[in-house]
Amino acid sequence: AAAHAHVRARAEIDLGAVRDNVRALRARAPGAELMAVVKADGYGHGMLPCARAARRAGATWLGAAVPEEALALRAAGDRGRLLCWLWTPGGPWREAIEADVDVTAGGAWALDEIVAAARACGRTARVQLKADTGLGRNGCPPADWPDLVAAARAAEAEGTVRVTGVWSHLARADEPGDPSIAAQLDAFREALATAERAGLTPEVRHLANSAATLTLPETHFDLVRPGVSVYGLAPSPEVGTAADLGLRPAMTFSASLAQVKRVPAGHGVSYGHTYTTQGETTLALVPAGYGDGVPRHASGTGPVLVGGKLRTIAGRVAMDQFVVDLGGDTAHAGDEAVLFGPGDRGEPTAADWARAAGTIAYEIVTRVGARVPRLHV
Ligand code: PLP
Repeated sequence: AAAHAHVRARAEIDLGAVRDNVRALRARAPGAELMAVVKADGYGHGMLPCARAARRAGATWLGAAVPEEALALRAAGDRGRLLCWLWTPGGPWREAIEADVDVTAGGAWALDEIVAAARACGRTARVQLKADTGLGRNGCPPADWPDLVAAARAAEAEGTVRVTGVWSHLARADEPGDPSIAAQLDAFREALATAERAGLTPEVRHLANSAATLTLPETHFDLVRPGVSVYGLAPSPEVGTAADLGLRPAMTFSASLAQVKRVPAGHGVSYGHTYTTQGETTLALVPAGYGDGVPRHASGTGPVLVGGKLRTIAGRVAMDQFVVDLGGDTAHAGDEAVLFGPGDRGEPTAADWARAAGTIAYEIVTRVGARVPRLHV
C-alpha cells in the first residue's frame, strides 16, 4: 500500500478479513458447503482476489450473477465449482458449459437453450433449476415447476444435462421473524419434493443468503450462499452489526486531502450553496465524488474521519470532490480522509454511509467506482 500512498483515492481490501469471514460463516453452517458470491466485482472489492481468498478459506463453490463473471473466473484459472444464474436469451451457454460452469434454468426457454448448446458441443451441461418460492424475481413459479422438472429429467435421460442443484432465493431473510421466510421454506420443500418424485437427484439444494446463513439454520440445506457477509458487512441493521455477527469489513475507502484553506464567514460551499460557513473556518477538499461512487444523497450527511475526528460533508457531493469543514482544526493537503472502513480506528463504516445516504451497505461498497484503485493487502 505504501507504494500507492500518493494515490488520490483508494479502496484497500483486507483479504485476511475475507478469509476470516468465510471461516466464520462456515462455522455458522457446519453441515453445509459454502458458496462465496463474488458477482459485481466481488461487491466492489475485486472479484478475482476475493474469489481466491474465499477458496483458500474453504469456499467449495463460487457464485456469479452474469456469465461474463463466471467466464472471467475461469479465464483467471479458477477450476472449482462455480454457479452462474442470471441468463438472457442467446447467452454464452456453450462457453459456460465447456468451461464447466453450473448454469441455471429458471424457465423452459433457458432449459431449451442449454440443451441445444450441450448438443452442439457434445457435452453434458451441469444445470441447476431455480424455483421462485416467493421472491418474485427470476426463477420458475410453482405452476410451471412440474413441467420444468419433467423437461430436465427428459434431458438427463438424453444425456444432454445433469441436474446438479435445485435452489431458490429469499426475499426477507434480513427481517427476523418475517412470515414470508417460513412460507418460502415450505414452498422450497415442496419444489424439492416434486423434483425428487420426478427422479432428479441434485447434489446441492440451497436457499440461504447471508442473513439466512447467519440466523436461519433451517435454511442451510446442503450449501449456503453468502455474499455481503463474505466482505464483512451485516445484511441489515436488524440482523445486527458486523461486530455482533463476528464479521470484519474488508474495505477501507480513503482519499488524500487535495486542498486545505481558510475562508471567512459567509462562504458558500459547493454547488447550490447548500452550506455556508458560519464563521472564519478551515475547509478541506476531499478528492472523491459521485464519479467514484460517493453517493450524492450523502450531501450534508455523509461522515468522514479527518485528523482523528468525525466530520460531516459540507454541502453537495460533486462528481469528483466534496468539502468538509474542519472548524478550528488544521490539516494539510495530503492528509488522509477515511470515508469508511471496519470502524476500529474511529472511522465511519459502510453501514454508517448507508444510513446517511438512505440506502444499504451493499450499495455503498458495490458502487465504489472503477476510477478508485483497489489495493489488496
Ligand atoms: N444468492 C443469490 C441468488 C443472490 O442474488 C445473492 C445476492 O444478492 C446472494 C445469494 C447473496 O446475498 P447476500 O449478499 O445477501 O448474502
